[in-house]
Amino acid sequence: MLDDKVTVLKGVGQALEEKLNTLNIFTVNDLLSTFPSRYEHHQVLPLSDLIHEQKATIQGTIVADSLVSFFGKKKSRLTFPLQVDQVIVKVIMFNRHFLKSQLLAGKTVTVTGKWDQYRQQLIAEHHFIGEKGEDEPIEPVYLLRQVIPSHRFKKLISQALNDYESQIPEFLPDTYLEKYKLISRQYALRHIHFPASFKHLKQAKRRLVYDELLLFQLKLQAIKKYNRQVTVGQKKLGDKDKVTTFINELPFQLTKAQLKALDHIMTDLTSPYRMHRLLQGDVGSGKTIVAAIGIYLTQTAGAQSALMVPTEILAEQHYQGLSQLFGNRLSIALLTGSVKGKKRREILHELKEGTIDIIVGTHALIQDEVNFHQLGFVVIDEQHRFGVNQRKTLREKGMDPDVLFMTATPIPRTLAITSFGDMDVSMIDEMPIGRKPVETFWVKENMLERILNFIRKEVATGHQAYIVTPLIEESDQMDIQNAVDLYQKLEAHYQGAVSLGLLHGRLMNDEKESIMKHFTAHEIDVLVSTTVIEVGVNVPNATVMVIYDAERFGLSQLHQLRGRVGRSDKQSYCILIADPKGDVGKERMRIMTETTNGFELAEYDLKLRGPGDFFGRKQSGLPEFKLADLVEDYRALETARQDATEIIYGDLLESDQRYKGLNEHVKQILKAYQQGFD
Ligand code: ADP
Ligand code: MG
Repeated sequence: MLDDKVTVLKGVGQALEEKLNTLNIFTVNDLLSTFPSRYEHHQVLPLSDLIHEQKATIQGTIVADSLVSFFGKKKSRLTFPLQVDQVIVKVIMFNRHFLKSQLLAGKTVTVTGKWDQYRQQLIAEHHFIGEKGEDEPIEPVYLLRQVIPSHRFKKLISQALNDYESQIPEFLPDTYLEKYKLISRQYALRHIHFPASFKHLKQAKRRLVYDELLLFQLKLQAIKKYNRQVTVGQKKLGDKDKVTTFINELPFQLTKAQLKALDHIMTDLTSPYRMHRLLQGDVGSGKTIVAAIGIYLTQTAGAQSALMVPTEILAEQHYQGLSQLFGNRLSIALLTGSVKGKKRREILHELKEGTIDIIVGTHALIQDEVNFHQLGFVVIDEQHRFGVNQRKTLREKGMDPDVLFMTATPIPRTLAITSFGDMDVSMIDEMPIGRKPVETFWVKENMLERILNFIRKEVATGHQAYIVTPLIEESDQMDIQNAVDLYQKLEAHYQGAVSLGLLHGRLMNDEKESIMKHFTAHEIDVLVSTTVIEVGVNVPNATVMVIYDAERFGLSQLHQLRGRVGRSDKQSYCILIADPKGDVGKERMRIMTETTNGFELAEYDLKLRGPGDFFGRKQSGLPEFKLADLVEDYRALETARQDATEIIYGDLLESDQRYKGLNEHVKQILKAYQQGFD
């Protein structure tokens, strides 16, 4: 059985078993699923088979004598053009200037090194003058953290393959194998470990990547379907007339996109199924009002709502905003970490009694001591800031409330269909009319004087500005110092002509709140701040956003910051102060000046930084794939998603013998899910 412990393999005793366990290898199956992290090969290949950034060996004729240049102390760079088949590639060798006399025009050489597909060049580590043999094997390289020698590990894999190959189940129906021309799972596992050729390796990868993505999508879809079938008895009838009156009394007309999202939300709320919905929309697209209308409906149905946000500032703002919006239609309370003592006890009591209709707060809302009378609707703003576990706790807290996640960080499609595949998605892809796109400029720091004069002019016409101060990685202390320095510089510059505020992470919460209040009330013209203002802050009168060290931020983060302005019918400006060194950095600044479309920026950011960084490393909630790469394997992902949907919602899973393997898999997933393992 593939579930056999590794000790069934020859030569694996207790000591080795324990070592393998530290690599998360417990069973034969675990062993076979530990794929090589890369491959070594010194086999000469045609250029068309080379993989970007991978080690490769090529062979050809030198076209012109080598050139050598020296740099630094004792460092050198030798280059020569090499004709491989009909193509000329550039070969580079570092610190091998003494080879100049050997690497001459007309010679045949074989060189091994890292291949750069885009520059069509190879940085050579080895060279060999003359031709090389044909049949060099492709060597797998495993990440073994020095727990076990690599040759020993390869022997184990080889033994496991020989003894167990016939037991590796084929869970894909043959219709899929034919449709996508996939090799069998047995064959794929053999060749992912010991590829007979690059063609075999490629086929093995294709098969295993598809499996990985399909199983993952099956999980998401199965859970989504299951959740839809759970009737929770929270069918909120509500008072639709009241809600309609409320909408008609708003000072603006909802956009088409808002109306559509609202329709989804109302349908979810009034249906007996549990809402599990993501509301995506660019900054300023007006998600909050849509959620608020849902909250109002919930109240008219006699249930409570909770609005959870990532920062206290944002909680405060939503609290103010909703209080204004609802007037005395319903009762709102704010609960954050800084609400303490008697006040806190009162709020907790009233929540339990049900006299509070909406509670706005931070993570504090999911603490044990918070209990609701009847929690019907939970709105989570900027949801990517929350860890998976926090979401779950909240879900478990209420009596299965409807949950709406809102995010202003446009999530690229690729990520949306992976990490949020188990949610329904509504998009607000249209801005309220009258909004002017923010004009964005990229400048160097020596323009500061001009920027400050520009701000002075904007302030003179009654507008406000933000300045985000320089960022020092891994040092709060320095960040604050920078903010303080800049604040003083501005004080000296403006000589009281402009009223300034300073906001940073080290201030007490009530100090932060009071500064934000002053800024919102326009008692402060220019707010100097570290990045604490990033999320969701809404001061429509602000028209200028200056961002120091813009090259240090991800595009999505810059877009978030930029979204703090342009929130009214006034023309707004974003000034990026940046001096990026590399081409990529320059490209990123350029892209910022060229588009204000958050989705475009997000796609670009994902490509540049990879999915892990996109949401921030720790709480990304993104699945970790062994072989699949969310960016590279995007198309396979889409295919797998479609297939998973067909499988889950079709009727073959239960009735067709060929789907037996998949059916068992889905059953296991649901069993685990019902027992509380996500
Ligand atoms: P988001 O949360 O999507 O970033 P908000 O909900 O904070 O955006 O809305 C930004 C601003 O736009 C708020 O001041 C809000 O009152 C206003 N607003 C929302 N919808 C509309 C609309 N349809 N027309 C005009 N203004 C709107
Ligand atoms: Mg918002």
